Amino acid sequence: MKNNLFMNYDTVDKASHLREGHILDHKDFDINKIKLAKIWQNKFSVKKINETNYYAIWCSGKEAYDLMLNNESLIFLGVLKGSFYFSINIDDTDEHIKSYYDLRTLNPLLNKSDLTFLTTAQGINYWHKKNIYCGICGSISKSDDSGNSRVCLNNKCRNKVFPRLDPAVIMLITYKDSCLLGRQKFWPEGMHSTLAGFVEHGETIEHAVKRETYEETGVKITNIQYRYSQAWPFPSSLMLGFHAEALDTSLNVNYQELENASWYTKDFLKSSPENSKFKMPGKISIARRLIKDWLA
Ligand SMILES: [Zn+2]
Repeated sequence: MKNNLFMNYDTVDKASHLREGHILDHKDFDINKIKLAKIWQNKFSVKKINETNYYAIWCSGKEAYDLMLNNESLIFLGVLKGSFYFSINIDDTDEHIKSYYDLRTLNPLLNKSDLTFLTTAQGINYWHKKNIYCGICGSISKSDDSGNSRVCLNNKCRNKVFPRLDPAVIMLITYKDSCLLGRQKFWPEGMHSTLAGFVEHGETIEHAVKRETYEETGVKITNIQYRYSQAWPFPSSLMLGFHAEALDTSLNVNYQELENASWYTKDFLKSSPENSKFKMPGKISIARRLIKDWLA
């Protein structure tokens, strides 16, 4: 099972029409169709099959139903193969603590559907935590639409908000047989990666690719091509991957933003030492995928 890439997200039915009603009363629902992920301290309960394969533990039946009733943290995640998927936060766990892992660790280890649902749960759960108070009047808000929105409890306001994503561009810049990689001070020792940055108001994603590349390295680019995207709920990004070509290799690195940036040849990357001096980005990242596709 190859399950470590963003391409492997499952096509889950978000079933948004079910969010507004009381799902537990829906005609197709019964408690044996519940699949409930318990989140404890931002970690998910999983079962280890072997070193590279983990499965999410989904609680079902009456146990799940009782946990879900009147639980403010409940999030409806969608429907897959007739089952109704949810997540809730739990305060303490009677299960073995060692079965709980954070999503970054689990990302390359989960099967497609588990990765899809837990990524959804992680992203929306974080959004709830950041939106406890109404952004308009400051009153407390409460979860609504089965965890897929929040509404202000001040009756004069009733402001309603929905989960938000931060679009970020990530781009492999190449010039003939070389590509441009940089590193930030806080990254793991030796790790180098493609340039990246957040999309700003008033620009397209292609503009963002051009602007971020120039701001960070002084490199002017052309032929900007969108490649693929990756849900990246750390905490709330949507990564949009691009390939673009540099007009030349002259660099003017912005050392406020990057520790360094340089051009690396295909030959060098194909025999990357993967040590404390130089290593490629992590195997779950879109950056690595962009580089590997170009090398191929
Ligand atoms: Zn309000």
